Amino acid sequence: MAEVKLKRSSLEQYRLEKLLKELKSKQGRGTELISLYIPAGRPLSEVVSTLRQEYSTAQNIKDRTTRHHVLDALMSAMQRLKLFKETPPNGLVVFTGYIPHGPPGSEKMEVYVLEPPEPINVYLYRCDSRFYVDFLEEMITEKDTFGLIVIDRSEAVFATLRGRRLEILEHITSGVPGKHSAGGQSARRFERIIEQLAHEFYKRAGEYAKEVFGPIKELKGILVGGPGPTKYDFLDGDYLPSDLKRKVVAVVDLGYTGEEGVYELVEKGRSALQDIRYVREKELVQDFLYHLAKKPSYVAYGYEEVKQRLLEGAVRTLLISEGLDAEYVKVSCPACGWTGEVVVKSSKAEEQTTSWSRCPKCGQAASIDRRSAIDYFIELAEATRSQVEVISTATEEGKGLKDSFGGVVAILRYSKEQ
Ligand SMILES: [Zn+2]
Repeated sequence: MAEVKLKRSSLEQYRLEKLLKELKSKQGRGTELISLYIPAGRPLSEVVSTLRQEYSTAQNIKDRTTRHHVLDALMSAMQRLKLFKETPPNGLVVFTGYIPHGPPGSEKMEVYVLEPPEPINVYLYRCDSRFYVDFLEEMITEKDTFGLIVIDRSEAVFATLRGRRLEILEHITSGVPGKHSAGGQSARRFERIIEQLAHEFYKRAGEYAKEVFGPIKELKGILVGGPGPTKYDFLDGDYLPSDLKRKVVAVVDLGYTGEEGVYELVEKGRSALQDIRYVREKELVQDFLYHLAKKPSYVAYGYEEVKQRLLEGAVRTLLISEGLDAEYVKVSCPACGWTGEVVVKSSKAEEQTTSWSRCPKCGQAASIDRRSAIDYFIELAEATRSQVEVISTATEEGKGLKDSFGGVVAILRYSKEQ
């Protein structure tokens, strides 16, 4: 399979999305959570002196608890900055503050320092009841977009493909009747009427294209497809505005029209869509299915087998579904030393935990560790340098990974039959 350079690996993307979701869910007791965005090139000493000023201002906060919380949060931020010799190449983002975990007094200081995946261009200091993550969110949103047009004489569909999202935007029908079979004078007149109607339809399609693709800033290209010669009539006839026409990167013959045609266009036009995650995800799962069919000794599936192969260091690529609904449960008995571990569907995790709450061997109270199976598998994979691909359920292939294969499969470095 061709090497594809995405800006971020699917694992990095998954982790960033997860972290942002977590940060967004946090809320301070008062206006006391600090968000700090430091642009690349800004000297940290300058930032620290700004924070010192904020610190002295914060001493005037009337509410005693809020004042203490803000002062502590500022102090933590300054301490963290001192760990850096200089501002990292993409800048730095710091979140600090007390997060409540129950009644007043349950607040715990939390500190997050991250080097953003892309350069930060603005300085921002904010003290609020929530962490300000908008810049980061904007940064990790995939922007590159492809426009898709599937057209024949009866209908046209307009869609966009952006990151993992395939969206059908418009579906228009032409009302152009099929070709007439009778000959003679009336047939020729009928033909002319049909041509006129087709012309009107292409014009309308061109206007729709302008309306739906025109406003997209990061429009990387347009793919046009459909059965028969209509797509060429449409393109040759200058119905598309010239700025959009210049962006046509592929014209593809299709068997289908309508929405079916859109999926077919993505499949057949994929070479023009290489750096789009949607296509990448399809290819990764297809690669697994290919191995499953042709070299079954090079694949693993099922929680236990995948876990085993990961532990052996046999996994080349781990494909894991974002939708994987499973937990890793581990038990250890402090009395007799018995341990056990298993990956189970989330719906069974509670039952498993209960059955292990007492050591099966000696009956003493055992200690249980429970966490997301996604994190567990990723950790095993990273320990043995397997490539990890986190796959969404946006594509048919991604849904299949989750529903037919339990959400986690692996392609192996060597045959397991050796
Ligand atoms: Zn025991």
